[in-house]
Amino acid sequence: MTPAAPLVYLVGAGPGDPGLITRRGIECLAAADVVVYDYLAAPELLRHAPAGAERIYVGKRAGDHTLSQAEINRLLVERARAGNTVVRLKGGDPFVFGRGGEEAEALAEAGIAFEVVPGVTSAVAAPAYAGIPLSHRRLTATIAFVTGHEDPDKPESGIDWAALARGIGTLVFFMGVKTLPAIASALIGHGRDPQTPAAVVRWGTTPRQRTVTGTLADIAERARQAGVRPPALVVVGEVVRLRERLNWFERRPLFGRRIVVTRAREQASDLARRLSALGAECLETPAIRIAPPEDFGPLDEAIAALAATDWVVFTSVNGVDFFFDRLEAAGRDARALAGVKAAAIGPATAARLKSRGGIRSDLVPETFRAEAVVAAFRREPLAGRVVLLPRAAGARPVLPRELAAMGAVVREVEAYRTLPEPTDPAELIARLEERAVDLITFTSSSTVTHFLDLLPPARREALLAGVPCACIGPITAETARRAGLAVAVEAPRYTIEGLVAAILAWAA
Ligand code: SAH
Repeated sequence: MTPAAPLVYLVGAGPGDPGLITRRGIECLAAADVVVYDYLAAPELLRHAPAGAERIYVGKRAGDHTLSQAEINRLLVERARAGNTVVRLKGGDPFVFGRGGEEAEALAEAGIAFEVVPGVTSAVAAPAYAGIPLSHRRLTATIAFVTGHEDPDKPESGIDWAALARGIGTLVFFMGVKTLPAIASALIGHGRDPQTPAAVVRWGTTPRQRTVTGTLADIAERARQAGVRPPALVVVGEVVRLRERLNWFERRPLFGRRIVVTRAREQASDLARRLSALGAECLETPAIRIAPPEDFGPLDEAIAALAATDWVVFTSVNGVDFFFDRLEAAGRDARALAGVKAAAIGPATAARLKSRGGIRSDLVPETFRAEAVVAAFRREPLAGRVVLLPRAAGARPVLPRELAAMGAVVREVEAYRTLPEPTDPAELIARLEERAVDLITFTSSSTVTHFLDLLPPARREALLAGVPCACIGPITAETARRAGLAVAVEAPRYTIEGLVAAILAWAA
């Protein structure tokens, strides 16, 4: 008999950076009917669960236990018994100070099969992101993970403070913010040198990471002055000194900057990923969404007439996608473009034309502007040639007008629409109120106008006063300026890469 598939997965979510979950963890999330997650699990990870999966937040922030441990155990058992695949998503590693052991015991007792998916514990990851290797050949050969939950002054403390103080090189304390003064004095009292370097790392591996360093003698006071609150880890040992040279994460060029990304959700990830990799905290507030045209008729007719077409000019990745969707819907493929020349505005569109259709563009104006396309076409004989322009409804008229002026027979068809996305602006408004937004990015004029529509008209001006914007090119920048926004960055190359490069230069 083959054993039944596990019903409950105790999955380590990793320390906060959503990239630090394991592949197995993502597989489990993708198969979940129910996800039970807590405060320290990166909320972005919930995206990996199916849209219809039940998502249950069970808190567990110090002092705010949305559900008690016994209630969580019962919940897991009950949902599993109802036949669901349950993922219990826990910060860090489930079996390192996370009470995962108790949850597994409850499942074992109820006779429910489970699997444990280890995670990257914050004890390892947060120091790593603070530039502190837990071991180092010259400095220490031993590491201990300790709970800071126990007050060292209590006589019944189960921790051998003398052994920790004198016998272990690197000490990592979980949940030690409140007890930090007692921890430091217990270690000193049991013989550790007061000059031993120490660090407190809060929200490690996330864009909110903050690190305070000092010595055992003064770390408690420094952490207090800096206002450090949980969740934070305390690291004690000579290895903390290495941070001075190895602090890679907090030194990244956009670290600590909060940047709003207004692109359509399907397209935002590329920009957000690049900005995050440079250290920024991205607030994804999609202002637009890409939708099919109301009527595919004109595009379908244009596709049926490809044999009598000389050029197809693609002005965006979306145009390429919708064009090939309809081509395939008609039962055809890229061979329908045999003998038709293709132009792509900008390298991203050209790359999509290549990957989607296997087609190399005959003409790629480097800049994302109709004027540049017109200039590029000046070298081509256009008189009497049929030029198909599949693009968004309401796009600027300059391109068809100029091509027609060069003698082309222009067939402009609607391939897709750009519609406002009804994003909930609550978090955006809260951050703007706190003056905690460092930059707003716009990748098209429609992102500017629909972004503004997300904010209550009466408060718009006050909320956005003085908040700098970064625009992908001059036309977007012009739209932003006309709307009264402060354009601080205008990309000289009208691509996502160019925009990111311009933001970097601005930040420097
Ligand atoms: N199972 C988790 C630990 C849970 S106990 C793990 O393996 O990481 C909760 C404590 O973990 C917090 O109070 C804090 O001390 C620590 N912690 C968790 N995530 C953290 C992070 N991103 N930065 C700093 N400390 C963190």
